[in-house]
Amino acid sequence: MYFDIEKGDVRMIRALKLIGDYKQEISDENLLTQIVSNPNSNGKYNTVLIIVFKEEDGEIVFYDIEVEEFIEEKLEKYAYKYGSSRGGDLTPTCKITDLSKTFNKKFQYSIRDACENLEGENKNEKIILKIYDILQDEDNKEEIYNKLRKVNYDNNAILTIALKKEDELKYVGDFEEFTQSLMEKYEEKFYYKSSYCKAEQESIGEDNLCYVCSEKLDKTYGYVGTFAFYTLDKKGFTPGGFKRGEAWRNYPVCPECAKILDLGKDYLEKELSATFCGLNYFIVPKVIFNTHGEDREELFEMLKELEEHKKFSLQEDARKTLTAAQDDIFYVMSEFDNYVNFNLMFYEEQNSAFRILLYVEDVLPSYLQRIFAIKEDIEREGLFKELKGKDGIFDLDFKFNLISDFFYVNQRNRPDFTKQFLEIINNILTRRKISYQVLIDRFVAHMQEKFRNNKSIWFDNLKALMILKFLKKLDLLTATGEEELGVSSTIEEYREQIEEFLEQHSDILDSNVKRMVFLEGVLAQELINIQKRDRDGVAPFRPRLNGLKLNEKIVRRLYPEIINELEDYDKNLHKQLEKMIADYILESDFNQISNNELSFYFVTGMNQVHKFKFNNNEEGD
Ligand SMILES: [Zn+2]
Repeated sequence: MYFDIEKGDVRMIRALKLIGDYKQEISDENLLTQIVSNPNSNGKYNTVLIIVFKEEDGEIVFYDIEVEEFIEEKLEKYAYKYGSSRGGDLTPTCKITDLSKTFNKKFQYSIRDACENLEGENKNEKIILKIYDILQDEDNKEEIYNKLRKVNYDNNAILTIALKKEDELKYVGDFEEFTQSLMEKYEEKFYYKSSYCKAEQESIGEDNLCYVCSEKLDKTYGYVGTFAFYTLDKKGFTPGGFKRGEAWRNYPVCPECAKILDLGKDYLEKELSATFCGLNYFIVPKVIFNTHGEDREELFEMLKELEEHKKFSLQEDARKTLTAAQDDIFYVMSEFDNYVNFNLMFYEEQNSAFRILLYVEDVLPSYLQRIFAIKEDIEREGLFKELKGKDGIFDLDFKFNLISDFFYVNQRNRPDFTKQFLEIINNILTRRKISYQVLIDRFVAHMQEKFRNNKSIWFDNLKALMILKFLKKLDLLTATGEEELGVSSTIEEYREQIEEFLEQHSDILDSNVKRMVFLEGVLAQELINIQKRDRDGVAPFRPRLNGLKLNEKIVRRLYPEIINELEDYDKNLHKQLEKMIADYILESDFNQISNNELSFYFVTGMNQVHKFKFNNNEEGD
């Protein structure tokens, strides 16, 4: 009846525990920091009004109103936690909406609720109960309210109480009596679900082993859903089947571990997460699953180092990123020595359910360095430099976003190829081959659609070329159908230039048939450009390209058609290119190439026409 926690989840739970331990060790922050909220999260509550009490001759009395500027360092002191809209907050610290309402209602409810379980057993309890009494008294209330009213401040303010001891203030957060109930409230989520039916609301196990620390404990909780990957609300948990209240049997977590996992999650989200082409990911330094001894120290060392690297690296130039995101941390990872491996977890959070999309294991820093080196190499190629864009001249940088653009990751109203994209990313990061054919098919489908809609495709084509070159250099492409290259013929000067270009890009143009169809694309675009120039932007030849859905027959048909049309313009350059194509057609093996590849290299030729120095230098469409 019980389900298994998935492999990725188990790793995640362990990693979270370690990271949580780390977080607890490096800071004096206690759990309270995690629990309290920031009343000034919108930056508009910059004033704190404190109703100060003090001890006088053994009696607690109202002393005065003190005003201070809100500072984040005092979050634990204020110990603010929103309660409900009609009732009070969870501690006597409230955001002021309307002074009269807040002071007379919300604030009063808050302190009343906080006093509910106090019996005056110790000194603190007595103080708090006395403060409550003072605030019940109408005369006191009026005096305090009038004083509060006179305080001037900009925007909004926060209302709280404190006790003056000598010259120091003891705040709400300094009273365990107040924070204790916060802690209890916080812990409740680990074992109590108000939305479940009565019989299943509570899940507490007794005397069993904690799933996380493996210790036998008298109390374990069943609803610890740190990341909601373990969710009991999934389908299949129908009444009569698995009793959700018995969840502690399946994934029991002791109170201490439950809190540590939360700490780990908090750290992970703040320090080790980023976005990647519209997807969220965490980097999880590979943890050796022994949670004791040296490995643990090593992990802690590494997290510290990571924090430091991150501080510096992120300020460096944007070229050192593999994604368009500001928070890209790949370069940071690449700066480590190889003793550290990284695991990457791509995930999705939807309706509070957490789904791991991809778990990439063992990414080595040295390999990331290689990726960055190749990225730089490719970016230096003339093909990608000094491009004419809408906002002027620019260079194309290699980023994984170039790939995701073809796979419509998180794009509306488009087919979603996120899964294929993630597979490609997984293969790149773990050095596995990527199907050249899958890429070509996607590139071409994307460009055909834009071509049909009369949209420019030169930039898409350039991005596709960059991706192919990048992967080829990383040696990650499956066979691209290389064959013997070269055509025998007399060499003339212009032809030599063309040959040189083909040679420069022999990583991509690696067969006769690809070169042939590439050159035919060059010539076709030349013809289209001429027609457009002569006929007010209309190119009658364009529809002959069959929406860029090419095959051998069309490629063979296009050749004489282009030549016929170009005859009127009789240029020597055309003649040489025509001759070259004819030579290549003879040497081309069409069995070696798919229709999408034919289309792809044809488009590539169309988009590189300006490299062939006809008398037209436009980019084409
Ligand atoms: Zn435990």
